Amino acid sequence: MRQSDDTAGVLQRARGAYLGLAVGDALGATVEFLTPGEIARAFGVHRDLVGGGWLRLKPGQVTDDTQMSLALGEAILEARGFHLKTVADHFLAWLKSKPVDVGNTCRRGIGRYLRDGSLESPFNEGDAGNGACMRNLPVALYALHDDAAFARASIEQCHFTHNHPLSDAAVLALGRMTRALVLGGTREDCRAIADALVAVHRTFRFEPYPRRTTGYVVDTVQTVLHGFFTTGSFEDCLVKVVNLGGDADTNGALAGMLAGALYGEAAIPRRWLRRLDPGVRKRIEGQAGALVTGPLARRWADRD
Ligand code: MN
Ligand code: MN
Repeated sequence: MRQSDDTAGVLQRARGAYLGLAVGDALGATVEFLTPGEIARAFGVHRDLVGGGWLRLKPGQVTDDTQMSLALGEAILEARGFHLKTVADHFLAWLKSKPVDVGNTCRRGIGRYLRDGSLESPFNEGDAGNGACMRNLPVALYALHDDAAFARASIEQCHFTHNHPLSDAAVLALGRMTRALVLGGTREDCRAIADALVAVHRTFRFEPYPRRTTGYVVDTVQTVLHGFFTTGSFEDCLVKVVNLGGDADTNGALAGMLAGALYGEAAIPRRWLRRLDPGVRKRIEGQAGALVTGPLARRWADRD
């Protein structure tokens, strides 16, 4: 579909994906590292942006998942395209801002850049965490119309901190699902992308769901796809995913990205949007619009 055919719909779903990411992060962070039993005892069903958790957050406060996405999106808009050194500088500025949480692999990658200026982490067996996957949404929105540009920029930004084929495969699959949905695609389009991922890497098989929720990118993709494909609304999807606990903020963020792209901004519960950190909400709304309907997006779309 050409973007000019449905600009309002594309924008609505892009904002849904980005706000969904942040809402899922803020909702999940409250129960990060808890077990489903611990969550049930403390909350019954956890379904509100109440803050707290091991990071002692304010209600509606987001964590590294959303903040690193915002840093990446800002870098793309500032450079008027994808420029890895600009991305690296924005990640470094974010780390220096004393964020509430930083993943180990992200800290190591940014630290390496600070020491030697290198923009790529060497292959590392331990780099199969979800820390690159969680922040790639701005690349998907920026390269909505160009799959080759999407793949190239995604892998570059990922390898800055995470150099592992399973992380790469997860990033490309979730990003392609998001792009398909923002462009007006269906759940069936996502099913085809998920099936292709599983056909190449059997380890991502999510039916039957293995119920593992660590920060390992395979666990993350299985949890997110299980939640996405077994629910019928934005709220049900996020509530189901975060109540599984574990890396609940990242699982919530990625489930929120997909569900927001499918169901659109209007499907995000008002009570969640009202609670979301207003500064974060404003930055997201600005970036989503600029990435999918700004001059960069027109440059891709006009080549069709
Ligand atoms: Mn986080
Ligand atoms: Mn997390």
